[in-house]
Amino acid sequence: MGRTLSKSRFQKGLQCEKALWLGVHRKDLAAPPDEVQQWIFDQGHEVGLLARELFPGGAEVSEDYMHQADALETTKRLLAEGATILYEAAFEFGGAFTRADIMVAAGDGLWDLYEVKSSNSLKDVHVTDAAVQSYAIEGAGLNLRTINVVHLDPAYIYAGGAYDTRALFAVENITDEAREFMRTVPETIERLQAVLEGPEPEVLIGTRCSKPYPCEYAEYCHAFLPCEHPVTQLPRLSEPQLHRLIDAGLTCILDIPPDFGGFTAPQRETIAAVQAGEPRVDARALASALGGLEWPVYHLDFETVMPALPLWAGTHSYQTIPFQYSVHVHREDGTTEHREFLHVGTADPRRPLAEKMIADLGETGSIVHYTSFERTRIDELTAALPDLAPALAAIRSRLFDLEPLIMRYTRHPKAAGRSSVKYTLPAWCPDLSYEGLPIADGQTASVRYLRILKGVAGEDEAQATLSALAEYCALDTYAMVRLLEEMMKQAAG
Ligand code: SF4
Repeated sequence: MGRTLSKSRFQKGLQCEKALWLGVHRKDLAAPPDEVQQWIFDQGHEVGLLARELFPGGAEVSEDYMHQADALETTKRLLAEGATILYEAAFEFGGAFTRADIMVAAGDGLWDLYEVKSSNSLKDVHVTDAAVQSYAIEGAGLNLRTINVVHLDPAYIYAGGAYDTRALFAVENITDEAREFMRTVPETIERLQAVLEGPEPEVLIGTRCSKPYPCEYAEYCHAFLPCEHPVTQLPRLSEPQLHRLIDAGLTCILDIPPDFGGFTAPQRETIAAVQAGEPRVDARALASALGGLEWPVYHLDFETVMPALPLWAGTHSYQTIPFQYSVHVHREDGTTEHREFLHVGTADPRRPLAEKMIADLGETGSIVHYTSFERTRIDELTAALPDLAPALAAIRSRLFDLEPLIMRYTRHPKAAGRSSVKYTLPAWCPDLSYEGLPIADGQTASVRYLRILKGVAGEDEAQATLSALAEYCALDTYAMVRLLEEMMKQAAG
């Protein structure tokens, strides 16, 4: 009889046997969740509690994960007392231990299981998750009539006030799919139990390291790669390509021999740039593309939030809402002027943001952005604020995306094939860096702002966040000024 696997360990084992083994034997190697991951967990918890309103008045098994035996006892007691709705009921059977989000008696001794997920849609991983739950529940003696996943429904448009939970959540009956997978659960548990009894499994890094969830052992498992120019930096490297390189003992781009084939054109160009040790630029094509710019150039960058539970009337779950922008006005003589907007308060930021942005972006000159993110946000603002549609359409017609130019016409050894401004900036403008900033990436910016909106941040934290956001967003557009200047220099040859 092997170790009992919790539902999360079972799921971890499906993702990667090595991750399961490390989670049991070398937990010390796990990276602690960062503030973004912690926020996602907390948000999931909030969604889970709200979903209980679909089935109110249930009895909760409140013992935490440290007290499994007590949770099993409480579940038994509540069932014996005739409870008909249970939250967090605990079951153990055949080497599996699970907690069921919501169980509802369906009559004739049958039950309906509802697993709550904070996503906007049903995912494959939810089926395996519900299947192992159901395996433990039925093995423990309860019969399930239906197996369901409850997730947020992006079709629900929040009207303000209390949520209409019947519309906020979608319930998907996955009984057939879960029962199909359930048949494989006993042998999977046996296999995973055997893994845990053995030595650390040898598993190659690959897509499993980030899918379906980012693995907390990534740093440990990727430590064999060189710090500079690891092969994983090659653009769009597939798992078979990665494994072929590793099997050939090639971990550094510098070591890839010229006759090692099977690369795409962008990958070959990246290898050539890294091995040459200097940037490669198609100056003529770059100059021609930059010739489409009209001065003055306005560099634009948004910061956004995507709250799981909609915060403002007219929005839906995980809708991307801009709350801040930075604009650097860049004149042909090289002078710049900074303009910005950062919404303060808990009201919907879109209208004040859009109105000030329309004023700040003037009427002529290209609006430079990096990736299609800003264009999509402007389209969404247009849909949400129809009276501003003509002004926003005028803005849209002036947009100029810098990223495709950098991707198409340049290769820098330090950025390798990566086009994110976080890589291209230090490569082309090494004196500029996000290092040391209290907020240095968009996800952290979003989570810190959400902490203010949700009232989690105290006054001091809120003030510190607002000033860190201003600093971060301003650097984003200043970086674009510098990148454009560098591209113009490169285009001039
Ligand atoms: S980093 Fe990748 S290989 Fe390592 S344990 Fe995690 S999923 Fe497995």
